[in-house]
Amino acid sequence: MLPPKRPMTELARAARGMPRVRDQDVIRGLQDNQFRLVYQPKLHVRRGVVDSAEALVRWDHPDHGLLLPDRFIEASETSGTIGAITLWTMEQALRDQQWMRAQGRDLRLFVNLSAQLLTDEQMVIALCAIGRHAGADLGIEVTERSVIHDPDLAFSNIRRLREAGLKIAIDDYGSGLSSLTYLKQIDADELKIDKSFVTSLGTSHRDPLIVRSTIDLAHALGMEVTAEGVETPAAHALLTVMGCDIVQGYLVGRPMRADALIQHLASFDPASIAVPNDGRVLRDHSFWKRA
Ligand code: C2E
Ligand code: CA
Ligand code: CA
Repeated sequence: MLPPKRPMTELARAARGMPRVRDQDVIRGLQDNQFRLVYQPKLHVRRGVVDSAEALVRWDHPDHGLLLPDRFIEASETSGTIGAITLWTMEQALRDQQWMRAQGRDLRLFVNLSAQLLTDEQMVIALCAIGRHAGADLGIEVTERSVIHDPDLAFSNIRRLREAGLKIAIDDYGSGLSSLTYLKQIDADELKIDKSFVTSLGTSHRDPLIVRSTIDLAHALGMEVTAEGVETPAAHALLTVMGCDIVQGYLVGRPMRADALIQHLASFDPASIAVPNDGRVLRDHSFWKRA
């Protein structure tokens, strides 16, 4: 079991160069439209199309400039304002999805859910209401940490979210203490293999074996598999041979604003990210296909 997350002290926050995020700043930031979403495309390998994207939050802070999530999400989880950020994120993703559709691009959009919110009754009710919105095609990324404190409640809330039409992805799989017991019980649509395994595919002997067996395991449990942090054609080729369904990473596209994503996809050719056929990866195909 993972140790409970301890709130970060002011000293630790200062040492990591993190600004002090006050509750009223977050609330004012949401009211004043200082938050925005960027989207990172996900390529469905077999279909050869980008048909989903992950929403990642950014904060254009009036004093601190552009803040990435690692500068404020943890503090918001501690102070409790993460709920307000998450609801704004879901609603904004829904608005952006409708806008993208009007531009001719139909993408399922995934939003990250902090661990503590999965067992928050009011949040689950609000998320279900958004999921039932006409035309909504949204998903939620949860980590295994979400189920540790109250697994039964977490599993039953996941079922409620799915019944409301939301897809569920297990995020950062492998980065914590991945438990087979939880994996078997989480009613999820997608498993996302943590990027730490993907970036070391070419250098580690063990990680490719772990990735391959994780893909097989997830398929056996009825889930599709996304590999995060795919940066090279070689990693993409290897993951394809291993049967990975979806790839996400700088190779397909960096996180970008909705309008930039539409432009990016208009000129994006999945064939352009294929590995150069010089045998480096192809040489290993039979090995990865071995039963
Ligand atoms: P995550 O969910 O694992 O998101 C993926 C992170 O990896 C993103 O960082 C993304 O920019 C980065 N990334 C994507 N492709 C690549 C790649 O090919 N190589 C490498 N090295 N990195 C890549 P970002 O946007 O800074 O987000 C960091 C984390 O913040 C996210 O990790 C997620 O846990 C959290 N987060 C982001 N938005 C939200 C949100 O709306 N709510 C909550 N609760 N958490 C969020
Ligand atoms: Ca995520
Ligand atoms: Ca992740």
